[in-house]
Amino acid sequence: MSGLALGRELVRRGCECVLLEAADRPGGVVSSERADGLLLENGPQRARLTAPFAGLVDELGLRESLILAPEDLDFFIYRDGSLRRVPLSVHGLLVSDVVSWRGKLRAMLEPLTPGARDSERVADFFSRKLGRELYEHVVGPLYGGLYGTDPGDMILGLSLGGLLRDMGIGRSLLLSRLLRRAVRPPPVCSFADGMESLPRALARALGDRVHLNAPVRSIEPQAGGWSVVLDDETLPAEQVVLAVPAPVAARLLRHIAPDASARIGGLRYNPLAVVHLRADTNLRGIGFQVSLAEPRAMRGVTFSHCLFGGKGGRRDRTGVYTAYVRDPACVRAADWEDGGDPGSVPRRPSGSHDNEALAALAAEDFERCTGYAAEPLAVARPAMPAWDTSWSALRGLRLPGGMYVTANWESRPGLAGRYARARAVAAELDPGGPGRPGPHRTT
Ligand SMILES: Cc1cc2nc3c(=O)[nH]c(=O)nc-3n(C[C@H](O)[C@H](O)[C@H](O)COP(=O)(O)OP(=O)(O)OC[C@H]3O[C@@H](n4cnc5c(N)ncnc54)[C@H](O)[C@@H]3O)c2cc1C
Repeated sequence: MSGLALGRELVRRGCECVLLEAADRPGGVVSSERADGLLLENGPQRARLTAPFAGLVDELGLRESLILAPEDLDFFIYRDGSLRRVPLSVHGLLVSDVVSWRGKLRAMLEPLTPGARDSERVADFFSRKLGRELYEHVVGPLYGGLYGTDPGDMILGLSLGGLLRDMGIGRSLLLSRLLRRAVRPPPVCSFADGMESLPRALARALGDRVHLNAPVRSIEPQAGGWSVVLDDETLPAEQVVLAVPAPVAARLLRHIAPDASARIGGLRYNPLAVVHLRADTNLRGIGFQVSLAEPRAMRGVTFSHCLFGGKGGRRDRTGVYTAYVRDPACVRAADWEDGGDPGSVPRRPSGSHDNEALAALAAEDFERCTGYAAEPLAVARPAMPAWDTSWSALRGLRLPGGMYVTANWESRPGLAGRYARARAVAAELDPGGPGRPGPHRTT
């Protein structure tokens, strides 16, 4: 998505570009597949339909296939044997059973606590502001769950801090929430044929500028720019944008920017197992996360069935639940090295569980948390940038002139965020502005 969205913006500005994709299909971790007539999302399940994102959907002719999730769905937390609704307002918190009265009263002191400090851990920030109980059972799993990372390993200034600033949240989370209660978040959307419709449509719009099965093996400096070396040809480029996972970027930079390569190569990824389950339930909601105090391998579930397959929704989502299971092994840069499949998915790290074991764990934990039996359908193994303490290595990162990065390890990973970043990078590459065709050739 990072590369395709950037390509789209460059072409709109009249700049020429070539997109080199290692895999045989566009989209990277955005991957939808069908099994037994059911639609399964191996990567993102949904996107936020922000105004710029909606504009992109229209331009790509995807409006007809756009599907919106119902707006009244709740999110849940599993703790102490049951699913509990996550409160979205101060009043909701007071009447909720998600934390004790003591926890609620502690949270109410939040406006009196000092504001965020960039150097503190996200876990310390939430505990200090909202109290340990609300952190451990609600806020910690909700925020850490986005990355599969323990918020105790995340530094505020390197992760949550940017989001707080972007959302205009000042010293108090609760007061900001109260003052902004009238602001509705953008709707949640997908497409009739799944999220992969988006990169497919972007690739179609870019036409023969997109080269599939074209892994970049190395990048070398040449007069006035770069030589980009593929298996059977070498392409000249004035500017190069890296839109690849961090371990691949580190490898490509090893000889031309050793310091940047070492910094990027130290970033950690979390191996994640996405286990698709089929179940017949009365559950209604977006899904749930598991409290940090619960020792489950399964950390969360999206109710794909309810998001886009509920009453009047898509039949091909009926009964589908997507569970996220923590794989005990950690992904190392070497797992992406040559010899493995090129692309976003690393080789399975040594010491990791096999797919059957992960599927069984997910089904067992699903039944324990919801009370409903589930049948595993398929397992996917993407890896997620952890956004943990290893991100401090990016402070002071410098790339050679004419080289840029847009990737989910360098700025906000969500799809709407990827599109926003693409527009910013396109403006950097083409400061002259749209509609002024220039000689640029970007790879
Ligand atoms: C399981 C999961 C669930 C998610 N859920 C959501 C969600 O619900 N909503 C949301 O908004 N976001 C979600 N995200 C985040 C979002 O999907 C990703 O951050 C985003 O799609 C990443 O895009 P990218 O292009 O930066 O990286 P990638 O998708 O990793 O793309 C990198 C590309 O580089 C290519 N490549 C690798 N090596 C080479 C090489 N040598 N030469 C050429 N090409 C190469 C790869 O094949 C790949 O296509 C989720 C992510 C995951 C993994």
